[in-house]
Amino acid sequence: MSMTNAYEPGRAELGAIDRTLVARRERLLGPAYRLFYERPVHIVRGEGVWLYDAEGGAYLDVYNNVPSVGHCHPHVVEALCRQARILNTHTRYLHENVLDYAEKLLSTFPSELAHIMFTCTGSEANDLAYRIARSFTGGTGFIVTQLAYHGGTHVIAELSPSLGEYVKLGDHVRTVPAPDAYRNSGDEVGAAFAKNVRQAIEDLHNHGIKPAALLVDTIFSSDGVFTDPAGFLAEAAELIRGAGGLFIADEVQPGFGRTGGHMWGFQRHGVVPDMVSMGKPMGDGHPMAGLVVRPELVQAFGKSRYFNTFGGNPVSAAVGMAVLEVIEGEKLMANAREVGAYLHEGLRRLADKHPIIGDVRGAGLFIGVELVRDRVTREPATDETTRVVNGLREKRVLISSAGPSANILKIRPPLPFSKDNADLFLSTMDEVLVTT
Ligand code: PMP
Repeated sequence: MSMTNAYEPGRAELGAIDRTLVARRERLLGPAYRLFYERPVHIVRGEGVWLYDAEGGAYLDVYNNVPSVGHCHPHVVEALCRQARILNTHTRYLHENVLDYAEKLLSTFPSELAHIMFTCTGSEANDLAYRIARSFTGGTGFIVTQLAYHGGTHVIAELSPSLGEYVKLGDHVRTVPAPDAYRNSGDEVGAAFAKNVRQAIEDLHNHGIKPAALLVDTIFSSDGVFTDPAGFLAEAAELIRGAGGLFIADEVQPGFGRTGGHMWGFQRHGVVPDMVSMGKPMGDGHPMAGLVVRPELVQAFGKSRYFNTFGGNPVSAAVGMAVLEVIEGEKLMANAREVGAYLHEGLRRLADKHPIIGDVRGAGLFIGVELVRDRVTREPATDETTRVVNGLREKRVLISSAGPSANILKIRPPLPFSKDNADLFLSTMDEVLVTT
């Protein structure tokens, strides 16, 4: 992924231990990895919304959606340990866990989406969606947004323009601008998005390519977080279907209750996708992911064998079930809605005080704050955004940035984030903005 908040060697003075760790990473992991922040963070323990360094220093996590129900949640850890002590195999043997979990997970979806196939990563889930879409439609063309990230397998990297100039998009891939209501406020957002999708479909046809699918992250996370007006995806979804293609929702970012009002991001838009990929928050840190599909799409595909060695194993299924139980038991969706609204309001108050805040947008506990040098020209405040992200990090509050100009603060804490946590974040942000 082209990184907006990456460590650059030599920019900041590091302590002896961190210097050694950075050097070892380079020597052992090679050149492709990136660290966050001018001064990387070295974490040794996590609990709830807090991360701790080796000296016991506490960092407020306002960024990580993988530990969705909180770092090292005891109910999830207990479920993992319990099942790991008994058995871990794979889906070639009969076992209740995978079925109990599939039933529970599918019950959160509209009834048309009735099968789930398990993978270990979001990339694999999208890769599977790609294969099924091609097999069902007979098409090969894919439409994604201009700064989308959908994963790192060969075919999905070709659908991930956010990887930047060194990864070539496929000839069968077309990009469309994300539905950005801030920078295109003149147009009706859904109609403008649909118009761009229509043009992409026409362009595919003009090149003799039959469309297979429109694939979008339903919260447009790497594009810059676009959420409103709810419903803006519906017209484009209809269009791609009219052209013989499928509508695939990538829920790796907004899924599992984060948007507050619904379990899944697509539900805000009143659409029922043909396939839904999911990952990151699914296992609270345990590597699990999956693809939910309409059964008719996989009838022919199912003639070939699908096996994912680790996907859907009894331990992962126990972990996934525990995550759903915590979301329900701790009413985390309602918390995302309430605390998300509280945070949103607090950020709007900060916008009254700090003219650099051009826009505050989001749903539940997924918020984007766009920083601009001038509210009229909306010139992106790219360097200032870097300073804010790093200024917060120095005060032990962790967020990151996104968008084509890297000027959008990405605020996406674990779901048990409280109003007290929000207050701490807002007061720290206020301090940092004063000095930016
Ligand atoms: N889709 C989206 C929207 C993502 O953000 C990511 C990960 N950043 C992926 C897919 C890929 O997931 P994974 O890293 O688990 O392969």
